[in-house]
Amino acid sequence: MAEKATPPRLVLFNSMTKKKQPFQPVVEGRKEPFKPLVEGKVSMFVCGITPYDLSHVGHARAYVAFDVLYRYLKFLGNEVEYVRNFTDIDNKIIKRANEAGETVESLSSRFINEFSLDMDELQCLPPTREPRVTEHIEHVIELITKKGMFTSFPEYLQLSGRILDRNRAGERVAMDTRKRNPADFALWKSAKEGEPFWESPWGPGRPGWHIECSAMSAHCLGHVFDIHGGGKDLIFPHHENEVAQSRAAYPESEVKCWMHNGFVNKDDQKMSKSENNFFTIRDVWNDLKTTKVLDESFMKLLRTINSDLDDLKVLKQLKGKTLKRACLSEEQLQEQIEERTAARKQAV
Ligand SMILES: [Zn+2]
Repeated sequence: MAEKATPPRLVLFNSMTKKKQPFQPVVEGRKEPFKPLVEGKVSMFVCGITPYDLSHVGHARAYVAFDVLYRYLKFLGNEVEYVRNFTDIDNKIIKRANEAGETVESLSSRFINEFSLDMDELQCLPPTREPRVTEHIEHVIELITKKGMFTSFPEYLQLSGRILDRNRAGERVAMDTRKRNPADFALWKSAKEGEPFWESPWGPGRPGWHIECSAMSAHCLGHVFDIHGGGKDLIFPHHENEVAQSRAAYPESEVKCWMHNGFVNKDDQKMSKSENNFFTIRDVWNDLKTTKVLDESFMKLLRTINSDLDDLKVLKQLKGKTLKRACLSEEQLQEQIEERTAARKQAV
């Protein structure tokens, strides 16, 4: 009888401790295994999109990466509570809605739908919960109200490893949209004339970006939970500020393992909207469909975006298998990609 194959081990890289942790129950050498708070259950929060436009390939990388983790945790027999939020109120959304002559709610809902279609095309499983910040304003207000003010938070910048000038502190969480210190950030943004707003003890306005993830993760998963993920561009200031404000309100707040995926590169540069060197998921998907060259879409997509997969060995193995199924070598795949890129450039 054939021996049952052992599934590949899962090793998590914790961005906070900068250490690799084999997932329980694997105990290996002196490495401390990662144990979920409740055995057999894993709680995971991943920062979601701001729905004001079609999502680009960088989003695809992030959500495919965390989808693989989600699936694998489930495959290992865990019950996984996977929460991914939508920042459905934001300056960019307000600006786009005004330009398009539609309401903020209608624009954000439209792009949430488009995002869901993209996730379906990429075969990402839906998370267990997808909260929108506009549905959690009361929790944001509650968190800000609960918060004391730090005059000092020595753990600030532990995640990013940054060093701030002591005079610029970066240690203070202040309730003020007008910065008194370069490192201050807004918890609550006052509404300008004509902008959507919610009433609060600090006047009409809307939540700052960082506070919403603290509020929604705590509401959905509790003050201590297992995994918090996102792209590595979110480490600073977004996640640093999340840690500071969660701890300010609830000192027991803790994320057991912070995980971050890498950037998507194009021509050796980070792909970003500001550099205007990005492809949307939709562009790439349509391209793949029309060329009909590559039938296993999402792995090809990962190759297209020049991934560094070292931290996710499972992805690497999946990619190998997929290439095998498509009867393609790495070189052939690269050729196809180059041909398509050249064709696209010609078409522009
Ligand atoms: Zn977030």
